[in-house]
Amino acid sequence: MDTPLQLVDTHVHFDAYRETGELAAVLERAAAAGVQRMIAMGGAEDGNAFALELAAAHPERIRAAVGFDRHLAGQAPDFARLAEQAARPGVAAIGECGLDYHYSPETAAAQRALFARMLALARDRRLPVVVHSREAEDDTLALLKEHAAAWAGDPARLGVLHCFTGGADFARRVLASGLWVSFSGILTFRNADAIRAAARIVPADRLLVETDAPYLAPEPHRGHKNEPALVADVARALAATRGEPVERVAEQTARNAAHLFGWPT
Ligand SMILES: [Zn+2]
Repeated sequence: MDTPLQLVDTHVHFDAYRETGELAAVLERAAAAGVQRMIAMGGAEDGNAFALELAAAHPERIRAAVGFDRHLAGQAPDFARLAEQAARPGVAAIGECGLDYHYSPETAAAQRALFARMLALARDRRLPVVVHSREAEDDTLALLKEHAAAWAGDPARLGVLHCFTGGADFARRVLASGLWVSFSGILTFRNADAIRAAARIVPADRLLVETDAPYLAPEPHRGHKNEPALVADVARALAATRGEPVERVAEQTARNAAHLFGWPT
């Protein structure tokens, strides 16, 4: 029998399993698949609270990201509470946050203001930021450039562009901005040649893998609910794309995740 890979899923929306009673089984299957560590993603008040709860309940396996995502642009979420939450143990990052002009171009200016506020919080706490960007490349990079210029922390802990969906050119610009690049199950989709081209040019020490579960299940599970155990399929696709052994990709991305999110190695 093969030894399971040692994997880190750097982006999971665990709230999707809370109401359905699937959480315990999802965590068990993750462990069985060799997924040793996971980042529980916040992005709204309830998601932040649940991510913190999970990080407190599973301190060895789960760390939390807290933040206000683009859906909350123009609204008045509780920023004082978020600042207090961001200072708690178990918090590894600010996020997810960023810009999405595909789904809500009408809130672009408010999205930029909220994203800038999240970046400022990340600087205050010296925490990496988990960034979403869709059809907003130039504005995302402009704000990240200001962030990087004002960042006083470890330059290798600035953050990550999650669920990368651009091509090689955008990957180069993201890398130049100081961020790491995380690939999801989209890498396994038939029409994802541009993303695979990007995956080939990212240096090994700047790569991460994620599921973005419950969304975006990789092939051959496409159309089903995604979960952290399937990050193994993402790692396999990334390894095949780069022409590297999957064990090496798993080990390297796990080490990268440990450094970025402050786990002991
Ligand atoms: Zn996400």
